[in-house]
Amino acid sequence: MTQQFDLVAVGGGSGGLAVAQRAAEYGARCAVVESGPLGGTCVNVGCVPKKVMWNAAHIAHALADAADYGFDLKLGGQDWRGLKRSRDDYVERLNGIYRSNLARRGITLIEGRATLAGPNSLTIAGECITADRIVMATGGYPEVPDLPGAELGITSDGFFALEERPERVVIAGSGYVAVELAGVFAALGSEVTLLARRDSVLRSFDRMLQEVLMQEMDKAGIHVVTGAVPAAVTGEPGRVTVETADGRSFPDHDCLLWAVGRLPATGDLGLETAGVSIDERGFIPTDGFQATNVSTVYAIGDVTGREALTPVAIAAGRRLADRLFGGMPDRCLDYENIATVIFTHPPIGTVGLTEDEARRAYGDEIKIYTSRFVGLYNAITRAKPGAAMKLITAGAEERIVGCHVIGHGADEMMQGFAVAVRMGATKPDFDDTVAIHPTSAEELVTMR
Ligand SMILES: Cc1cc2nc3c(=O)[nH]c(=O)nc-3n(C[C@H](O)[C@H](O)[C@H](O)COP(=O)(O)OP(=O)(O)OC[C@H]3O[C@@H](n4cnc5c(N)ncnc54)[C@H](O)[C@@H]3O)c2cc1C
Repeated sequence: MTQQFDLVAVGGGSGGLAVAQRAAEYGARCAVVESGPLGGTCVNVGCVPKKVMWNAAHIAHALADAADYGFDLKLGGQDWRGLKRSRDDYVERLNGIYRSNLARRGITLIEGRATLAGPNSLTIAGECITADRIVMATGGYPEVPDLPGAELGITSDGFFALEERPERVVIAGSGYVAVELAGVFAALGSEVTLLARRDSVLRSFDRMLQEVLMQEMDKAGIHVVTGAVPAAVTGEPGRVTVETADGRSFPDHDCLLWAVGRLPATGDLGLETAGVSIDERGFIPTDGFQATNVSTVYAIGDVTGREALTPVAIAAGRRLADRLFGGMPDRCLDYENIATVIFTHPPIGTVGLTEDEARRAYGDEIKIYTSRFVGLYNAITRAKPGAAMKLITAGAEERIVGCHVIGHGADEMMQGFAVAVRMGATKPDFDDTVAIHPTSAEELVTMR
């Protein structure tokens, strides 16, 4: 007999699990269809293992500073393979926790690849299931450019499979995955070259963040090459050369990592069978309520082409369930003022508009406050990573419309400031907040 559900989530990643779990809490009969390990990108090949590697890099920096704090350490090196084992074990534990969370809430887990067979039906390994509502939460996968020899490179997925740390790495890309993984490799001892297509890294972020990060990457020994567009890859696995379109050659790297973007996982979903539209890049367009052009089919998370972040996929999924099953007809995700952190060294925390965006939105109505300094932690160390902060205000009341930080602690700092920005805090509100001393964060409430 065909199984029938109130809601089926296609994809057991951040978004799919969130929508099914919240809907089940309201009493809906739910299923999650997942073709890989539970938890999706974030848990298996994204945020979680990446943060473990960032922590390892952070420890490497702290160890380098230890002598300046009076420690006499004899270091024996870093065991990449051992770290990978612990990381993999942790990810496996999380996979198990997700599985038992589903069972505890009475959600059916169907393992396999789903394709839409119609607006209310799906096929998985030849079996058909039906649902009143289907939520596409299939995420994305890393892009590999279509050029000769590209298969000699790995992607972020391959990064997490590395059993050993490569000595000489070339990374193609300039987005957050590229700069984060460059920082990890460099801190743990690899020689890193980063090929950026344009004149900078993190080009969609505030210019101040780009500039300071480029300086810090340089100090960390990362060789950032701008205007470098890969055209061909030659060599063999473990010994590759990247040729760029302008004739430059980056030879003899034992690892090439493509970090040139992510593509939506919509290729073989049967969307056309159910009449679900995709845009020219393959993403599933949705309205403010995560609805697609087909009334029974919704989409959340990376597959929609909006902010590709785990908490965004989760928030969109939970709000959709609140609306469909929780009696909250207006509930939806506000995509404005979503804070994010880039786990570089030092990290970046940011919320709201960049200076360029604010200028476009408010013209001369904006005011900019900046601060650049070396934090107290580094007052007595030989390494002097810079810190920089920027507040952007708009209008006579000086509402904060952008808050950007690069420096130690920016990662943990930004969540609280994001609440303030979301609530419409003004510069006078920041000024009236008594500082916490001595911290870096206090700069944000003492800027003049
Ligand atoms: C290296 C890296 C680092 C990242 N770091 C961060 C970070 O620090 N912070 C942050 O917020 N975000 C981070 N992200 C982004 C974050 O991982 C994604 O935004 C998030 O996982 C998106 O969730 P999702 O539910 O949309 O998709 P996913 O988590 O990708 O889940 C989609 C799931 O659908 C499954 N699937 C696909 N097609 C089918 C099908 N036909 N049938 C059944 N199952 C299917 C897939 O197997 C997958 O498990 C990172 C991403 C990467 C790659």
